[in-house]
Amino acid sequence: MYKDLKLNFWWHGMKRDVAHSVAKCLVCQQVKAEHQRIAERTIQILDDMLRACMRDFHKSWEDHLYLVEFAYNNSLQESIGMTTFAALYGRKCCSSLSWDDVGEREIFKPELIDKSVDVVRIIWE
Ligand SMILES: [Zn+2]
Repeated sequence: MYKDLKLNFWWHGMKRDVAHSVAKCLVCQQVKAEHQRIAERTIQILDDMLRACMRDFHKSWEDHLYLVEFAYNNSLQESIGMTTFAALYGRKCCSSLSWDDVGEREIFKPELIDKSVDVVRIIWE
């Protein structure tokens, strides 16, 4: 709220005044609580996915982090009815297997794609 207000207004002690006003406002407190609930849920989901990755892939778990990110980005969030990636960027998330620039494209063997799909399935479960 302060960042939005300071685009058009400024007075001495403005930040403190906004903080006091927000602290007393029931709607602002409800929005803040909802944001905290979503943040805690996101952290819990990522924690679960990383633990599953470490459990299933042992010493090579770090090699699969990009697939954890892909799996998270493509997980349907029931509260918003879409994936977090689609909510943020307005489009589907692509696998990092195709994050190359034109002219840099490597041809991936079908086995690598099948293995990646299997890993994402394991992370989701
Ligand atoms: Zn408010």
